[in-house]
Amino acid sequence: MSKKYIDVILDDDPLLRAENALVSIPLSAEDQQLVDSMLEYVTDSIIEEKQLEYNLKPAVGMAAPQVGVNKQIFVVRLEEYEDDDIIVEQYALVNPKIISHSEQMSFIKSGEGCLSVEDEYEGYVYRHARVTIQAYDALSKKDVTLRARGFLAVAMQHEYDHLNGILFYDRIDKNEPFKVIEGAIEI
Ligand SMILES: [Zn+2]
Repeated sequence: MSKKYIDVILDDDPLLRAENALVSIPLSAEDQQLVDSMLEYVTDSIIEEKQLEYNLKPAVGMAAPQVGVNKQIFVVRLEEYEDDDIIVEQYALVNPKIISHSEQMSFIKSGEGCLSVEDEYEGYVYRHARVTIQAYDALSKKDVTLRARGFLAVAMQHEYDHLNGILFYDRIDKNEPFKVIEGAIEI
């Protein structure tokens, strides 16, 4: 049976640079459907057969503007293996705000990627090593205050940037893409 995933727009689309509106809580049926569709894409995107069958790119997150909806919603989903257990950490954050962050920065050594970016951009994207985010979580259906570090903090800040019209390569130093910031944590 054929399945249809939500369509992702690319970085030549002005909707990725547009303003994103606050969302009313509790979510409307339409907004909940949007959250479910984004999470479904991200969840299935790391399964190899699904990637091949439906041409999905592996992702750990997706923001609403990436599917052409200019609203303040993003999802992040990480799977970690601990012994034989899979630990899933997933969020669908609505109207998120980073309320505090570390001065210390971090970066992913291999660089960042994005579902909306097909070209290769090399260079380090510096992010705060730790962030505290307040939001409504559409999965637990609660207001949450999340403290994130490591890869989760990077993923959260990447998606948060989308809600402000910022793409990861905007943050790469054009003159010195592999500039090393003293004290930054390599991930
Ligand atoms: Zn992205």
